[in-house]
Amino acid sequence: MSDCIFCKIVRKEIPAQIVYEDDVVVAFKDINPAAPTHILIIPREHISSIAAAEASHQAILGQLLLASQKVTAALGIEPDKHRLVINTGADAGQTVFHLHVHLLAGRNLGWPPG
Ligand code: C5P
Repeated sequence: MSDCIFCKIVRKEIPAQIVYEDDVVVAFKDINPAAPTHILIIPREHISSIAAAEASHQAILGQLLLASQKVTAALGIEPDKHRLVINTGADAGQTVFHLHVHLLAGRNLGWPPG
């Protein structure tokens, strides 16, 4: 989508600190980090939220989650010390309507989240 901020990051029209990318996903540092390590992993294809994903997106969604392993490896994060979050819908805290997985690490993460 032309006016989607994350699509603009995918197209490199606006800057982002990219830590990993491949043909399906892009991962970059969140501009307002909620943890010492806070990375957003997004599909190159515009999908507005996980609630809008379709069966045809199955492979992309798998790569989106598996990309977390690439990110932790690239950043030297212990692979079993992080949290993945997908906010879905405004009431659940989603503010950017291009599907993204938050990868949070580097501090103790309480449960349940706020
Ligand atoms: O899950 P939610 O939609 O609230 O997350 C959006 C995230 O995108 C926020 O953590 C915000 O800091 C981040 N963001 C960003 N770069 C932008 C715009 C938003 O990292 N240009």
